[in-house]
Amino acid sequence: MDGNPKSGKKPHKEETRLVHGGRRPSEQYGFINIPPYRGSTILYANAADCLAMRNRFTYGRRGNPTMEALQDLWTELEGAAGTVVCPSGGSAVSTGFLAALKAGDHVLVTDSTYRPTRNFCNNFLTRMNIETTYYDPMIGGGIAELIRPNTRLIHMESPGSQTFEVQDVPAIVAAAKARGVTTSIDNTWATPLLFRPMDFGVDIVINAATKYPVGHSDVLIGLVSANEKLLPDLQLAHGELCLYVSSDDIYLTLRGLRTMKLRLREQGANALKIARHLATHKQVKKVIHPALPGSPGHEIFKRDFKGSSGLFAIELDARSDAEVIAFLDNLALFGMGYSWGGYESLAVPFDCTSFRTATAYNPDGRGIRLNIGLEDPDDIIADLENGFAAMAKAKG
Ligand SMILES: *Cc1c(COP(=O)(O)O)cnc(C)c1O
Repeated sequence: MDGNPKSGKKPHKEETRLVHGGRRPSEQYGFINIPPYRGSTILYANAADCLAMRNRFTYGRRGNPTMEALQDLWTELEGAAGTVVCPSGGSAVSTGFLAALKAGDHVLVTDSTYRPTRNFCNNFLTRMNIETTYYDPMIGGGIAELIRPNTRLIHMESPGSQTFEVQDVPAIVAAAKARGVTTSIDNTWATPLLFRPMDFGVDIVINAATKYPVGHSDVLIGLVSANEKLLPDLQLAHGELCLYVSSDDIYLTLRGLRTMKLRLREQGANALKIARHLATHKQVKKVIHPALPGSPGHEIFKRDFKGSSGLFAIELDARSDAEVIAFLDNLALFGMGYSWGGYESLAVPFDCTSFRTATAYNPDGRGIRLNIGLEDPDDIIADLENGFAAMAKAKG
């Protein structure tokens, strides 16, 4: 039996969808996994079909069975009308923006957004005569005051990159709808398993699938989903930009997705245990984790989210580079490097005091972002303690 439940019966739970979604074993000689279809050319059966471009798939860039499987599975998870696949999470953001915007438009972007999104707005969109205003991520319904006659898009990211502010998505969506403004969200941290933006009326949902869907740090890929209203614009922009993703990468993404729920559950629980430990640590000034009281938007998180994932930040009680270096260099289990969502724990320093424009970020100590992987959380805590001991020595 094919995996796609279209029987009109009670919709399956997410675990079941992740296992059965986007699969058509009967079309693959019974093989469970859809293979990576590679190819630019797709042959037509005859001249009449070729003239009319009458084929299930017409050209490699426009789709193949592997790509369709990922689109189907993700669309179902998001509760969207459709999904396009992009070569990275960053390109998913720009594709979502370009679907909604034209020259002369104005866009509102959260000040807590992913840094390359800010670069795209400040540079590329400026050159296209599209103006960006950054807003306080905690603005909520107050966003209404920033909407101009030419505001076409409000972009959210919740929790924010590095600083993890949880936004009042329903309030922002209500203000946008009242003025006919499109909304988009970068939902990479939560994935639709922990927060499903379509249920809150968001029009365009972006996910850097590089993170949890792939889950193994071996593929860069992005997904953009839209509701009925925005899907034609999204598909048009994606098609006109001629974006394409290798089926090998899509295959690995599908493979990652089959276990995403388990990984997310485990990494989320591990991260929370570690965050709680750090919250009482005398060498930690602050823990920024949406599920912990005191984190910005914690009440909204409790209201809207089904759980937390494995990424959060701490501010070390450290002032000097030497202390930060001693801490990081004495972690044996943490890799140091960008991206996140993989099975291995990572630690990277961050500082976003220099580039925010709508809000000031005033840290109490030196920022470290932690991606908690699938290691035993007690091993991770012991490893962090080695870092803290070295940090204390460096303080001298
Ligand atoms: C990583 C990330 C992206 C970009 O994803 P890439 O695949 O690295 O281009 C976009 N948004 C957020 C929130 C991210 O963390």
